[in-house]
Amino acid sequence: MNQCIERIVTFRELAHHEHQCPRTKTVRRGDKWYCWQHDPVARLGRRAVAHTRAEAEATEMSNAAALRQLKLSEFDNLVRVAKDALEALLLTGYYPAARAHLKAVLDDIAARRAKLKE
Ligand SMILES: [Zn+2]
Repeated sequence: MNQCIERIVTFRELAHHEHQCPRTKTVRRGDKWYCWQHDPVARLGRRAVAHTRAEAEATEMSNAAALRQLKLSEFDNLVRVAKDALEALLLTGYYPAARAHLKAVLDDIAARRAKLKE
């Protein structure tokens, strides 16, 4: 026998089919021979690579999400500070130009925050 020992199971037309891998045996593990694809050691290696890649992607995604959240909370803080300042100015009833400027700053922050949320 020159074939890989792996049994391949497929499902076709609602039936379960099983056959031996048609590839040539190339790797011996214990007393069994496998092809390059079904070599259990190579399989473990591929699985480990896929796992590492998935983990890296998840970390990248959560980093991006965390950064976004940080930016959002920074904007929230800016809005709070600007609102407090605006309210203080409104209480004094003075500085209409400063008030208009603060309002513009608030609008700008709100617009940038909305963009960030998209
Ligand atoms: Zn095989």
